Amino acid sequence: MNQKQTEIWHTIIIGAGASGLFCAGSFSASKLVLEHNDRAGKKLSVTGGGKCNFTNLFLSATDYVSSQKHFCKNALAAFKPQHFTDILAQEKIPFYEKEKGQLFTYDAKEVVKLLEKRAKKQNSTFSYNTQVLSIQKEKDFFRVQTSKGVFYAYHVVVAAGGLSYPALGASGFAFQAAQSLGINLIPIRPALVGFRLPEPWRNICRSLAGNSLSCTVKTQNREENGQLLFTHDGISGPVVLQSSLFHKEGEKIFINFLPQKDALAILKNNKNKKETFSKILSAFIAPKISRLILQELDLPACEATKEILHRAAERLNRFECTPVATAGYTKAEVTAGGIDPQTIDSHCMQSKEINGLFFIGEALDVTGRLGGFNLHWAWASAYVCAQHLKKE
Ligand SMILES: Cc1cc2nc3c(=O)[nH]c(=O)nc-3n(C[C@H](O)[C@H](O)[C@H](O)COP(=O)(O)OP(=O)(O)OC[C@H]3O[C@@H](n4cnc5c(N)ncnc54)[C@H](O)[C@@H]3O)c2cc1C
Repeated sequence: MNQKQTEIWHTIIIGAGASGLFCAGSFSASKLVLEHNDRAGKKLSVTGGGKCNFTNLFLSATDYVSSQKHFCKNALAAFKPQHFTDILAQEKIPFYEKEKGQLFTYDAKEVVKLLEKRAKKQNSTFSYNTQVLSIQKEKDFFRVQTSKGVFYAYHVVVAAGGLSYPALGASGFAFQAAQSLGINLIPIRPALVGFRLPEPWRNICRSLAGNSLSCTVKTQNREENGQLLFTHDGISGPVVLQSSLFHKEGEKIFINFLPQKDALAILKNNKNKKETFSKILSAFIAPKISRLILQELDLPACEATKEILHRAAERLNRFECTPVATAGYTKAEVTAGGIDPQTIDSHCMQSKEINGLFFIGEALDVTGRLGGFNLHWAWASAYVCAQHLKKE
């Protein structure tokens, strides 16, 4: 860093993750980017299984969960998927559509490199291994206390993310800062995360750990389809992660292990056979899985009473359980809840109370579904913030 610590930066950006990097590269001004990791985009470089599902072609405000459902609309209208694909195309970074509009690159690290390069071109200085400890508003500037001393700026952009994946740098700093500055928070929780199930199902999941199948998972107000993965203490996989965003603690979930198949009709049609239910259903579901799900109900069809037949079918088509917990922030892809959108101007992400203070990305109470929506929110919120700061 060339500038003396006593100089006042135009903008300090806290966090060199997805939103902080994108903001830093979207306007030219003297900017200091403070990051407590030893490099930029540590989380970004592992997104999408290392391939970065950076946006979704079909996105709309209904793909996001927020206490203010209209809040995300301005930013999403200002920044479209094509804006990001144009940036990738300019830099000759190839990308492809995987499914349902989900766009991926071939290497997430290329995206990090590109965003870092773009930020440096726009007069950004990076300070790594620098943990931000607090933000204070003085008269017309901010005082930012860090592990490397105090820095000053006219504007501060908090791009510090949420609490998910602490191993990659998540710290909850954005929430602490908001609280200390009197900004309201919507209660936070891990989202896009697996569920821990109660016994005896936990034990059964452990026996099936690593196996996956296509399922439907229903929560109180939503039904999702996709792959379910058994883990050592519960269930995960895309369909479960997606459901976790809409699930409220203590609510039941219903799993259909045989989507689009009427288990009762199949079992009834085979009720005189000597084969067990799991064998009869083997064309549709791996016997190892159905045997463990059915447990005591997995009888030879000809020996099963009408009641057992109905219960077996119900367990496969409408398995009911109440998760005891989620797999927590260490495994959650995102943090739901956060900075109350009512306290933020949706056109530029500036605090309505504290002039010059901005929050972008995951720290805000805007959480996307699985499929590129969260990174798109990081870009879009950073973009509108940068458009505003450009004029300051
Ligand atoms: C494993 C995984 C895979 C994912 N895959 C996808 C995907 O493919 N597509 C998608 O849309 N979303 C994906 N997500 C979600 C997505 O990564 C986040 O929504 C996005 O990174 C949020 O951007 P952000 O800038 O708000 O926060 P982050 O990217 O988390 O950046 C915050 C930065 O702030 C830094 N920081 C925190 N506290 C401090 C402090 N006190 N001082 C200094 N620096 C600090 C952190 O180290 C970090 O670099 C994934 C998440 C995970 C965990």
